Amino acid sequence: MAKRTSKPARAAGPGLRTLSVHGGVRRSQFGETSEALFLTSGYVYDSPEQAEGRFKGENEGFIYSRFGNPTVSMFEDRMAALEGAEAAWGTATGMAAVFAALACQVKAGDRIVAARALFGSNRYILDEILPRWGVKVTLVDGRDLGAWAKALRRPAKIVFVESPSNPTLEIIDIAAVAKLGHAAGARVIVDNVFATPVLQQPLKLGADIIVYSATKHIDGQGRVLGGAVLGTKEFCDKELKPFIRNTGPSLSPFNAWVLLKGLETLALRVEASSKAAAQIADFLAAQKGVERVLYPGRADHPQFELAAKQMSAFGTVVTFDLKGGKAAAFRMLRKLKLIAISNNLGDAKSLITHPATTTHQRLDPAERQRVGIGEGLVRLSVGLEDVADLERDLAQALAGA
Ligand SMILES: *Cc1c(COP(=O)(O)O)cnc(C)c1O
Repeated sequence: MAKRTSKPARAAGPGLRTLSVHGGVRRSQFGETSEALFLTSGYVYDSPEQAEGRFKGENEGFIYSRFGNPTVSMFEDRMAALEGAEAAWGTATGMAAVFAALACQVKAGDRIVAARALFGSNRYILDEILPRWGVKVTLVDGRDLGAWAKALRRPAKIVFVESPSNPTLEIIDIAAVAKLGHAAGARVIVDNVFATPVLQQPLKLGADIIVYSATKHIDGQGRVLGGAVLGTKEFCDKELKPFIRNTGPSLSPFNAWVLLKGLETLALRVEASSKAAAQIADFLAAQKGVERVLYPGRADHPQFELAAKQMSAFGTVVTFDLKGGKAAAFRMLRKLKLIAISNNLGDAKSLITHPATTTHQRLDPAERQRVGIGEGLVRLSVGLEDVADLERDLAQALAGA
């Protein structure tokens, strides 16, 4: 595997691992070591005057867990600390984060420019829901700066990208696209699920808003759904908060507590799985039945240089194409013993899926072809097992396919 040359500089202050463990902690009067789980929907007031004052915003305190809870706040503050964001909001799922980040700020007539290669549900929001509400959506080849420049010659409200993209691991030049987006008057939203704050920090590259599915690496152990939106305090207070407060895609305190514990080991897990993924990508490239391997850390990835510039390692997902299309892919999936068939990713357990028939089934075949999702394409999310065991499992399954 080719090595990256320089690490993005971090601002002075606590490091990412320290923030992952200590960020946002607020202890109760009991001085507990671990974050407290405030599993409560509401809060009581000392007096009607206090309740009145709190609704008017004159005194600090929680009102209702749809829009504020101490455990959820700890998760939000830790996420914001990791990204260097002014503010963050937790959401029930990653899709709730994506939808809230978009819907809180668009109105009929606004224009969104987005990369074409996106997670299936992100595409659904942009292809089906927002156009129904009069929002215009232009999709471009996210790898082509000329296409971005052309699409952003006209004003836009939002630029939306995913990098690396799901499942073809396309890399977007976040700094360059942010510059073009800002010149067109747009805010730039990055879905940073595949990179995590450990490997890529989009705000430092010029993005304005980050969205996460916390279900993936942030939990990392396949337990709960969750999400987060990060941005400026002004955006979060004035646009995002009223939307979430009044429409209710809120994060459960229980899930926030699980995610806080997940964040403590995020860097260790993502670094270990990324290292394993890089090894497995090279291993797969040498296998007979494999047509091509997509991994941004391999020198044969067309955007290796760009990935090395904006990421500190190349991620936990390896995508590869099998000779023999869907039949070969299904034969291999059936033969796997250790690696499980699942459309989830970012888990301690290695998981594999066939995007054309699962996550990206909704796209018509021509559009699937256009975004590079062939019938023989499989997406492997590398977990925390011994690499030798994963390679043995892949080798025997490929031999059978
Ligand atoms: C999974 C995923 C989402 C959606 O997250 P959920 O928590 O499943 O709602 C959004 N974007 C990307 C890139 C994802 O992989």
